[in-house]
Amino acid sequence: MSRLVVLGGGESGVGSAVLAKVKGYDVFLSDMGQIPEKYTAVLEEWDIPYEQGRHSEELILNADEVVKSPGIPPKAPMVRKIAENGIGIISEIEFAGRFDTAKKVCITGSNGKTTTTSLIYHLLKNAGLNVGLGGNIGKSYAYQVATEQHDIYVLELSSFQLDNVYDFKADIAIITNITPDHLDRYDYNMENYVKSKFRITRNMSSDDCFIFCSDDEITIRHLDQIVMKARKLPFTQKEEVEQGAFIKDDRMIVRYKEEECDMYLQELALGGKHNVYNSMAAAIAAKAMDIDNEVIRNGLATFQAVEHRLENVLSIKDVLYINDSKATNVDAAWYALECQTRPVVWIVGGTDKGNDYTSLLPLAKEKCKAMICMGLDNAKFHESFADIVPEIHDVTSAKDAVQLASRLAAPGDVVLLSPCCASFDLFKNYEDRGRQFKEAVRNL
Ligand code: ADP
Repeated sequence: MSRLVVLGGGESGVGSAVLAKVKGYDVFLSDMGQIPEKYTAVLEEWDIPYEQGRHSEELILNADEVVKSPGIPPKAPMVRKIAENGIGIISEIEFAGRFDTAKKVCITGSNGKTTTTSLIYHLLKNAGLNVGLGGNIGKSYAYQVATEQHDIYVLELSSFQLDNVYDFKADIAIITNITPDHLDRYDYNMENYVKSKFRITRNMSSDDCFIFCSDDEITIRHLDQIVMKARKLPFTQKEEVEQGAFIKDDRMIVRYKEEECDMYLQELALGGKHNVYNSMAAAIAAKAMDIDNEVIRNGLATFQAVEHRLENVLSIKDVLYINDSKATNVDAAWYALECQTRPVVWIVGGTDKGNDYTSLLPLAKEKCKAMICMGLDNAKFHESFADIVPEIHDVTSAKDAVQLASRLAAPGDVVLLSPCCASFDLFKNYEDRGRQFKEAVRNL
């Protein structure tokens, strides 16, 4: 019996362990930290041996193969030891892909993954297809392959999840855009990060589709350097294209093979230039899956925004509070500022991932009347924005940020939480940050 060891007891690790069990492996799961109770319950239910708070070499280095959770860095001592022992390390996506014959629509990129993935899922579901949603979102892909039957999967894949895929193949792959993010995990080398994103196109053939943003220079530059067998379907807001999606006057037009689908931009449920991109990517994918134009138009018009992504929380005394806690990098915050039409009190801050704020300076100058830095180390914000934004304040909690913002904002203003940074200095994660922000707003 083949021995599979899973490192990491989170959503993807536990899903992989369950799948391994179903497929008859001798499986063992190990986590250096504490495994949340909801996952130990699953492991016990499936009778899967595990350990937490340590990695026992004698139980790990006898593996035939290891599934590594995406959150564990490749430089972690145990991961190095496994590699030194010549044991193959794969990701949950690679493992689950071996047992899955469903069609796969896979989405990666620096920003817009969750939105685009959810949009595509919404379109395919509305078309009446038997579709599963997974990857970096909701239930793990592996758990679904183990316990459910779907004809199609829509999978959001982070670059960490792509780092250990080898034979996995998407039928439709999307790269929404590539901007600097997570460089700390890629030796501060952008090229490594770009390559990791492009792993989503591995093994694709001429029957498959690659959907990408042709306005994104980094994507285009890399695409020019590689051989891409899949059919290339660009989306752009700058020019007309033969195949793919583009803007003409006030409409979005999608061309796929001989077919065309068009829709007024005004009808799109999600506002902002970035969401036009996301909607275009989703519409091309839907066309490539043979979905009717009417279903696509309907779906794009009715989609509800995902929590923590430019989510309107409340309007109090004519001040609109917006939760964009998921803007954990500079580019996401750029789009959030770009689509604001009212004066902004901007809440930023958190863990810096090697940020460069230069691209935000013109927008901040034009739109922001005040900045509130919510982080343990705000020095870089002060340095970058001191001569740009009239006032900059420091706080260390969501409650203080919201209360201060409510004093600084005048009727007609917007209070925007779009932090440009990860949340781990003050919060558990970006969801926790967004929820604390919303609660503070509701308590005003
Ligand atoms: P991801 O899953 O890649 O992090 P999300 O859809 O969750 O992407 O959005 C993350 C953040 O990026 C949000 O603040 C959102 O407003 C912004 N955003 C969404 N789509 C795009 C895009 N196409 N380009 C730039 N920023 C985007």
